[in-house]
Formats: sequence, C-alpha cells, structure tokens
Amino acid sequence: MKYSALALLRGALSGPDSWSPAWRSPEPKPEYEVIVIGAGGHGLATAYYLARNHGIRNVAVLERGWLGGGNTGRNTTIVRSNYLFPESARLYEFSLRLYESLTRELNFNIMLSQRGLILLAHSRHDLDAMSRWANAMRMNGIDAELLSRDEVAAAAPLLNLSPEARFPILGGFTQRRAGTARHDAVAWGYARAADALGVDILQNCEVRGFTRDAHGGVTGVETSRGPIRAGRIGIAAAGHSSVLARLAGFSLPVTSYALQAMVTEPTKPALDTVVLSPGTGAYVSQSDKGEMVLGASLDLFPSYAQRGSFALTQGILASTLAIFPSFSRLRLMRQWAGIVDVVHDSSPIIGPTPVPNLFINCGWGTGGFKGIPVGGWTLAHVLATGRSHELAEPFQLERFYTGRLIDEAAAAGIAH
Ligand SMILES: Cc1cc2nc3c(=O)[nH]c(=O)nc-3n(C[C@H](O)[C@H](O)[C@H](O)COP(=O)(O)OP(=O)(O)OC[C@H]3O[C@@H](n4cnc5c(N)ncnc54)[C@H](O)[C@@H]3O)c2cc1C
Repeated sequence: MKYSALALLRGALSGPDSWSPAWRSPEPKPEYEVIVIGAGGHGLATAYYLARNHGIRNVAVLERGWLGGGNTGRNTTIVRSNYLFPESARLYEFSLRLYESLTRELNFNIMLSQRGLILLAHSRHDLDAMSRWANAMRMNGIDAELLSRDEVAAAAPLLNLSPEARFPILGGFTQRRAGTARHDAVAWGYARAADALGVDILQNCEVRGFTRDAHGGVTGVETSRGPIRAGRIGIAAAGHSSVLARLAGFSLPVTSYALQAMVTEPTKPALDTVVLSPGTGAYVSQSDKGEMVLGASLDLFPSYAQRGSFALTQGILASTLAIFPSFSRLRLMRQWAGIVDVVHDSSPIIGPTPVPNLFINCGWGTGGFKGIPVGGWTLAHVLATGRSHELAEPFQLERFYTGRLIDEAAAAGIAH
C-alpha cells in the first residue's frame, strides 16, 4: 500500500482492518542468493539497495531479536557530515544527501529535521581547531560556518554564556544541514521498502555459526531457526560484529563498549538546534515530543550489557548542566545504552573479510546512524559485484595491515 494523505483518509473512514502490515513475517527458505545478518538500519538498508540498485531480491535479513531493536533504535538520532578528511567527507556527505530524499524514496516519513548542529568552542585552542576543521569541510564542498559567541548565544540562548562559567563559550561552528531524523522510522522505512521488493526479514533468528566449503568459503549459516544456505553473506551487526567474526574464524580490530543516552520529561520548545560540547563531552537536542535528548562519552570498559554505568550517567548530567544550568529543573524520564563497535581510527570497515563470500559493514562506533544509507549502499555494492564501492575503498579491513588509517577521532564527536 502506498502511504499518502488519501490513504490516511481512507484508512480513517474504513477502520484499522484496512491497513496491511508494513512487512511480512515469512518462514525461512532453505536457500537465498544473499543473507544479511542484523536487521538494524545498516542491514535493512543493505537489503533494500541489493534489491533496488542491483535487482537482487532473493535476499534474507536475519535478526536475533526484533528489527531496529539494536543501536538503530537506541541512538540519539543526529545526522551530519562534518568530518575532517576527504575520504570521510565524501562518505558521510553521500549519506546525508541520501537522507535528504529518503522520505520520498521510501514513501515513509523519516522526520528528517535539518535544524543544524553547533559545536561549542570553550578555549582559544578550540577556536583554532574548529577554524581548521570548518575550512577543511568547505574545501571538501560541505557547508560549515564559524560562529561568534553572540551568534551562538542567539542560536541557543539557554546556554551558560557567563564569562565566569566553568566552561566559557568563546564561539563555535555549525553545519546548518545537520540535524536529526526519527531512528525507528529509518529502520521501519527501509524494512517496509525492502519487504515490498521481495526481501524476507526473519526476526527471532539468531546466527550461531557458519557452514563452509572445502576452500573455507561460507556457504550458509546455522541459526536458531535451522540452517540456511546462501551464495554470499554480509554482516551488519554493530557491537556484535566481533562475535560473528569469531564464529567465522577471523578477528576484527573492534572493541565493544556501552554508549548511553537519556531523555528528560517533555517541555515547551526551547532548543531548535543540536548542541555538542567536545570539551565536556555532552551533546543535547530537543525531540519533536519536547524531551531533551542527552548523550556523552562511552563507558570506559568493554561490555555487552545494554545498560551503561552509573558513573557515566552522573558525568553526562554534570556536563549537560555545566552548559545548560536551567535544565536542572527538568526530571529525567529514561536512560538506556547500546553496544557500539569502536575501531582505533574511529572510521567504519566496509568490504570483504578474509573468509571467501563473507563481507562486513561495522566499526561505525558512536556515529553510524548518520551512516545508515551509505553503509547499506556500499555493502550492497560489494555483495552484488564482489568489488568495493569507490566510496568504501579507503575503509577496507586491510588498512589495519597497511597502516593507512583515517583518524576521525575528533570529528567522531564523542571521545574515544
Ligand atoms: C546511545 C547511543 C547514541 C548514539 N547516537 C548516535 C547519533 O546521534 N548519531 C549517529 O550517527 N550514531 C549514533 N549512534 C551510533 C548508531 O546508533 C550505530 O552506529 C548504528 O545504529 C549502527 O547500526 P547497525 O544497523 O549497524 O546496528 P544495530 O542497529 O545495532 O543492528 C545490528 C543488529 O544485529 C543484530 N545481531 C547481532 N548479533 C546477531 C546474530 N548473531 N544473529 C542475528 N542478528 C544479530 C542485533 O540484534 C541488531 O539488531 C549512537 C549509538 C548509541 C548506542
């Protein structure tokens, strides 16, 4: 069914039974041309672009829980392309451009809100670093504007702008095309569009092992719903990528950490841009429902517990209140965490693995929501053609052997 104002009206008049489910719940087939492991945004986007860009529709996405229940449904929804190096700029800008037309492309409102993102400079050193960063972005053809202290004050008047503040604000820089998108809607939109093109999304289907041929190449997976054969397999499992890699017999330079976020009770519109303070680690935006969405650094020890430590929760609140003191009057409603896949150079890995017929998309760490469209696009390309997409070429696993790292630690936004 095509969603439209007319369909909404028809649905309102004819009752709930007139709506068809957004995607099917099929039984697994014994064999698919391609299997994608993980029904987060990256896995679902991969399946969609396999069908849409390459005409490969005999595809299954295998999800051990429910689709969008991993980091895709737990993140703070910020999208941007303000990275430093040309390779990353190209990758993330391609993604942001796909986001800009995604609602229409998927016929699903992903609630993209390009309200801009401001990075705060708390020192002369920050100002110098940010002018270098903004200039690099402009040379890469991406919008960036340096802001004076007064311009920051006008954009976010609730900030603590006192010169006596613990973290004084001297200025900053903004990417006006950055913003937020509704995370669930991105997963649901890709799922619905992939399903409509014939992709099977198999939930409650955990991958527990790989079957191999005589040359060591993968020929299928062992799952909680039985064995399934496939010609090629893609992994898009974020914080559990290294678990799956180990099942396939290789290791990844990935460490898994909990990253937490929280929301306050809703309040009237008070902040119409995203504010990130690299100095304190805190970042804040206001959701469409009115909640203040707060995030900050990673937990300092590796973990698979989707909770996050109390010490970090306290740290996030202290940092947020240092820059927005009036938020101390808001009550906290919810706190949660996801397991992110952190790589030494804070850049993703997209391409072949040492195992024949097995490909991977991982290492997005704390910033892969913004990368969902391009992550899916480029993993689909290598799965379909066997060759890495030109945007993904610098982001191969082999860079950890050659030493050609792309260190985006600063632009990753969150200290790691
Ligand atoms: C608190 C928090 C805030 C964040 N904020 C932002 C942000 O503002 N902007 C941004 O760009 N990024 C952000 N991120 C990062 C972003 O959420 C992730 O990089 C991105 O969602 C990863 O998407 P994915 O599809 O790869 O992973 P996921 O959405 O985690 O999907 C992977 C799926 O694989 C499944 N899986 C794992 N193992 C198996 C198995 N053995 N068999 C079958 N299925 C399996 C999981 O159940 C999961 O559903 C944040 C992350 C967190 C946790």
